[in-house]
Amino acid sequence: MKSFDVAVIGAGPAGTSAAYDLADAGLSVLILEKRAMPREKPCGGAISYSGQKFLRFDIPEDLVDAECFGARINTPESSITSITNDRLAILVSRKNFDSYLLDMALNKGVAAVYEMAKEIKEDSGFYHIYTNANRYLAKNVIIATGIQSTLIKNVRRLDNKDELGICLEAEIDINENSRYKDLKNIIEIHFGVAGYGYGWVFPHGNFLSIGVGGVTSVFKEPNKAMYEFMSKLGFKYDRKKIRGHMIPKGGIKRLTRKGGLFLVGDAAGFVEPFTGEGIAYAIRSGQIAANTIIKAFKNSDFSEELLSNYEKNCSAEIGSTMGYALFFSKMLHKFPNLLLNKIMSNQHCVDKYLEIISQKITYKDYIKWIFKKLPKILIG
Ligand SMILES: Cc1cc2nc3c(=O)[nH]c(=O)nc-3n(C[C@H](O)[C@H](O)[C@H](O)COP(=O)(O)OP(=O)(O)OC[C@H]3O[C@@H](n4cnc5c(N)ncnc54)[C@H](O)[C@@H]3O)c2cc1C
Repeated sequence: MKSFDVAVIGAGPAGTSAAYDLADAGLSVLILEKRAMPREKPCGGAISYSGQKFLRFDIPEDLVDAECFGARINTPESSITSITNDRLAILVSRKNFDSYLLDMALNKGVAAVYEMAKEIKEDSGFYHIYTNANRYLAKNVIIATGIQSTLIKNVRRLDNKDELGICLEAEIDINENSRYKDLKNIIEIHFGVAGYGYGWVFPHGNFLSIGVGGVTSVFKEPNKAMYEFMSKLGFKYDRKKIRGHMIPKGGIKRLTRKGGLFLVGDAAGFVEPFTGEGIAYAIRSGQIAANTIIKAFKNSDFSEELLSNYEKNCSAEIGSTMGYALFFSKMLHKFPNLLLNKIMSNQHCVDKYLEIISQKITYKDYIKWIFKKLPKILIG
C-alpha cells in the first residue's frame, strides 16, 4: 500500500495535464490508467487554438497530422467554405497525443500504474483507491476518467440521456474516396445527419476521421446515421472500423467536487455543447484542479473555502463559454429550418463563427452579433 499527495484516475488530457502541474510543484502524484498506453481513443483529434495555448509545452511537429485554417459547412440545402489566416486547430492522433502528454508528466516525476480504479473510500483523512490487485492512498483524488465511469458517483449523480452525447467515429484511408484526397487544411461539418449534432470529416494527412455525434435522447439510431452518412459521402461502411464513446453535454449545472475529490474534463461535464470540443477544456480544468490542490498543500489548508476555488475558477474560465454555447445550440437545433440552416448557410455568419475558435470574439459577442443580424439573415 503506497501513499501519495494526489492520485489522478485516467491518463487522458485532463488527467495528465493535472498530474504535470502537480508534479512540477513538487507534490507526489500517482496516475492510475486502466488501459496500457499508448491506447486508441475515438476522437476527431482537433485541438483548437485555445487548447494548444493552455498546454505548458509545445506540441512536437511530428505529432501534428494536419493544420486547420477553415471549415466547409454543409446543411441539407447548402455548402459554404470559410477560410481564415489563423491556424484554428491542429489535427492529431489521440493515441500519440495522449501518450506524449503522459510522457511529459512522467518526466516530471509522476508515477503511473496501469490498473483500473474500482472504488474510492475515505478513511482517516485519506482516500483509499481500490484496484483489483492493490490499494493506493492519497490526500486528494482527481477523477479524470471521461464520462463513462461510475466513479463519478462519488461526487454527483450520473447524467441522464438528455445530458449526454453519443459519438461514432472511423479512421478511413485518405485514398479510399478521390473526392477527399484534397481535403487538407479545412475541416468538413454536415448538419442534419445527427439529432442535435452533426457529422464531420477531419483530415489527418494519410487518413480521415469521419464521424457523427448528437444528443443521446434525440439521436436514437447512431449506427444507422453513421451508415447513411458514410454512404452519402461515398465511403465504404465497415462495422469493424466504427468506434463509439459518450460525451457530456456542457453548460448544464453539475457538481464538480466533493471534499478532496475533483472531477475534471469530460467527467466534470466540460464539453462545448455545440461543437463537441472537449480537449481544451479537459486540459484547462485539469490545470485548475491542480492549481487549487497546490495552494491547499502550500497553505496546509484543505478547507471548503480554499478547495471551492476549483468550482469558482472553472465557472469563471469555462462556465460562461459552456452556458452561451448551450443557449446557441438549443436555439439553433430547436428551429433547424428557421435558424440552424439559415445561419450555417450564411457566409458572414460562418466567417464570424470561426472568430470564436480563433478567440477573437466570445460566444456572447457572437450571439449578440447574430441577434442584430437576424432579420436580414431570415429574409435571406
Ligand atoms: C468520437 C469523438 C470525437 C471527438 N472529437 C473531438 C475533437 O475533435 N476535438 C475535441 O476537442 N474534442 C473531441 N471530442 C471530445 C474529447 O475526446 C474529450 O472531451 C476528451 O477526450 C476528454 O478528455 P478527458 O481527459 O476528460 O477524458 P478521456 O480522454 O476520455 O480520458 C479518460 C481516461 O481515463 C481512463 N479511465 C477511465 N476509467 C478509468 C478507471 N476507472 N481507472 C483508470 N483509468 C480509467 C480511460 O482509459 C482514459 O484513458 C470527441 C469525442 C468523441 C467521443
